[in-house]
Amino acid sequence: MIPITKPVMGDEEARAAQEVIASGWLTQGPRVAEFERMVAEYTGARYAVACSSCTTALHLALVALGVGPGDEVIVPSMSYIATANAVRYAGAQAVFAEVEPHTFNLDPADVERRITPRTKAIMVVHQLGLPCDIDRFLELGRRYGVKIFEDAACALGSRYKGRPIGAHTEMACFSFHPRKVICTGDGGMVTTNNESYAHLMKVLRQHGMSVPDTVRHQANKVIFEEHNEFGYNYRMTDLQAAVGIEQMKRLDGLVARRRALAARYREKLAGVPHIEVPAVPAYAETNYQSFAILLQPTLPMSRLALMQALLDRGIATRRGVMTAHRERPYRLTHGNLSLPVTEAASDHSLLLPLYPQMTEAEQDQVIGALREVLTRASS
Ligand SMILES: *Cc1c(COP(=O)(O)O)cnc(C)c1O
Repeated sequence: MIPITKPVMGDEEARAAQEVIASGWLTQGPRVAEFERMVAEYTGARYAVACSSCTTALHLALVALGVGPGDEVIVPSMSYIATANAVRYAGAQAVFAEVEPHTFNLDPADVERRITPRTKAIMVVHQLGLPCDIDRFLELGRRYGVKIFEDAACALGSRYKGRPIGAHTEMACFSFHPRKVICTGDGGMVTTNNESYAHLMKVLRQHGMSVPDTVRHQANKVIFEEHNEFGYNYRMTDLQAAVGIEQMKRLDGLVARRRALAARYREKLAGVPHIEVPAVPAYAETNYQSFAILLQPTLPMSRLALMQALLDRGIATRRGVMTAHRERPYRLTHGNLSLPVTEAASDHSLLLPLYPQMTEAEQDQVIGALREVLTRASS
């Protein structure tokens, strides 16, 4: 069976986790601080704040931006549902905008049409690792007085105009879920150049505590903490961070391997009928967190039938990125909102297996099966 994805975990991660267990520091501690330093340095951001997932990172970022009840935040519907859910956690209204059909990223013209006096922020997403055209959104933000920040869940190791994702906007939020390029089980991180955001998010992630337990435990005087902010338990643990530190050491190698395999897909899928490979604009370098193909209107079978035929040949695929506005929680709040470009992009795309350990033989098996199924169906 060829899986859709597979995290790269080795002896280094196991040893690092064991060291943490032996040290007895099982919650947020020195490894978290070290992991934050590594991600800040990698992305070029001044500060990094680790937390329990990208979803909680997005929530912290929204709270730091001052987003709350009565505010609107523009997001793509075509994204993992956590993008929209984070806005709802903050008590604000998610306003769904269309994506561009060939990049799956927010369409700046459509976003501009949806800006209102209540719009507080635009949350851009780098879908499947492909950076959106950040400068277009920064320009909109300046023109309308709206904050721009990033759901960069998939985009660690990607670059926009030559610079790593993580330091272009107010904040960028990353995920370390097993589907992403590096993994800590679950986990997330916010990067920012803004010291007051970073300070506030560090307080908020730990119950709003004025003095972190790490400081109190090491002090030789008794210190009592206060809780001056309404906070959350969104901490990352040292166990997760120890794994994250080892994963960061692998990051460049993992991305290079993904790019090499993606280049092979691009080359070898060029002649396969009824499908198209997605565009990579000149401003973007993607980490290929996932490899999507676009199914053409000439496709002689349903997407479901194609996925089943591939599964029958031992190959796992996934449907394209979901849409939030067609899921029940948002049908209830957004009525019968129609987003034709988004719906078509989601309904006519398919993710192929891609992971760094994939061999060329395995990849050829995927390409061969796809070619066989599509050629047979059209004859
Ligand atoms: C994976 C993902 C998330 C959620 O990340 P978690 O770490 O699982 O909370 C949010 N947004 C996008 C675009 C994602 O791909």
